[in-house]
This record gives sequence, structure tokens and C-alpha cells, in this order.
Amino acid sequence: MTTAWVTELRDALGADSVLTDPDVTASYARDQAMLAPAGTPAAVVLPWSTDDVVDVMQIASRYGVPVVPRGAGSGLAGASNAVDGAITLVMTRMDAVLEVAPADRLAVVQPGVVNKSLRDAVAGAGLFYPPDPPATTGAPSAATSPRTPVVCAA
Ligand SMILES: Cc1cc2nc3c(=O)[nH]c(=O)nc-3n(C[C@H](O)[C@H](O)[C@H](O)COP(=O)(O)OP(=O)(O)OC[C@H]3O[C@@H](n4cnc5c(N)ncnc54)[C@H](O)[C@@H]3O)c2cc1C
Repeated sequence: MTTAWVTELRDALGADSVLTDPDVTASYARDQAMLAPAGTPAAVVLPWSTDDVVDVMQIASRYGVPVVPRGAGSGLAGASNAVDGAITLVMTRMDAVLEVAPADRLAVVQPGVVNKSLRDAVAGAGLFYPPDPPATTGAPSAATSPRTPVVCAA
């Protein structure tokens, strides 16, 4: 059965951004913390833009549906594990490096940028972005700011 909020999400973001096939949603239920409990998301939503995220949060708030943001799912704490009935909000499509400002040691990125991509993007400017290469920038930076400090290598 398709719930009203799933219909609203599909109307707002497009059907290909709102996944409810149980085989698919199960694959987004947990991160790499295999001992941590994980529920079953009711929907997996893949936004393309900040406007999409705003739509998701407004619809979820209206219907009281929990939202669990997720990057690459490489965390080891179960923090991106779903709770039953949640929306798992997968940020991997928002993967642009928007700005690199070497003088300020600053990169402005979207939260789905893979750390390795950011590392490569800043390397040409003599900068080094060190964290776990396969993770996304969302986990370390988005909770506070999409303006990501990078470290000078030299
Ligand atoms: C082998 C290995 C080596 C590692 N080495 C390092 C290391 O050298 N340095 C280091 O710092 N860390 C390291 N880590 C930890 C790694 O950085 C985390 O796994 C990473 O931060 C998780 O990123 P993710 O994109 O997979 O996020 P997820 O695991 O998907 O999510 C992690 C948390 O962030 C939240 N989140 C994700 N995206 C967003 C968003 N856009 N907005 C708000 N919240 C969000 C999730 O809800 C969850 O709470 C390592 C991990 C592994 C497995």
C-alpha cells in the first residue's frame, strides 16, 4: 500500500527518487556496525538538491515520519541505521565540490561528496583533506556546516 506521504514525496521529487521496494530499502537499513540494531525504512529517498531536502523535511514533519540521513554508510556506530517506518535520506546524489578557496583553507561542498573526491579536488591547490576516503563529507561536516575546512599539506 502506498501511503499519502510517499505519494507526496513522489510528486515533489519524482518516482525515481523515492524507493519503497523492500529488497532495495533493506540494503539501506544499516551501516557497517553489524552488531547495532537496525529497523526497516519505509522509504529510501535520494535528493538531488537542497530544495529536494526541504521538500522531504516538510513532508516528513507534516506526517510525523522520522528521517535518518545517510552518506556512504561506512560508519561504525550504527548512527545511520534506520528506525522502523523511517525515511532514509541518502545524500549520495548531492556530490558536487562547489568551491575550493586555498587562501582560506576552505572547501564548500555538498554532503554526498566522497572524501576521496574532495581529497583529489583540493590536491591541485596543495591542500590535503585527510578523513576516511570512502566516506562522504556529510557525516563529518554537514551536521555543523557544509563549509569544510581542509588542511594544508606543506
Ligand atoms: C575502515 C575505516 C576507516 C576509517 N578511518 C577514518 C579516519 O581515518 N578518519 C576519520 O575521521 N574517520 C574514519 N572512519 C570513520 C568514517 O569517517 C565514518 O565511517 C564516516 O564518517 C561515515 O561517513 P558516511 O558517509 O559513510 O556516513 P554514514 O555512515 O552514512 O553516516 C554517519 C553518520 O552521519 C550522519 N549523516 C550522514 N550524512 C549526513 C548529512 N548529510 N547530514 C547530517 N547527518 C548525516 C548519519 O545519520 C550518521 O549518524 C573510518 C571508518 C572505517 C570503516
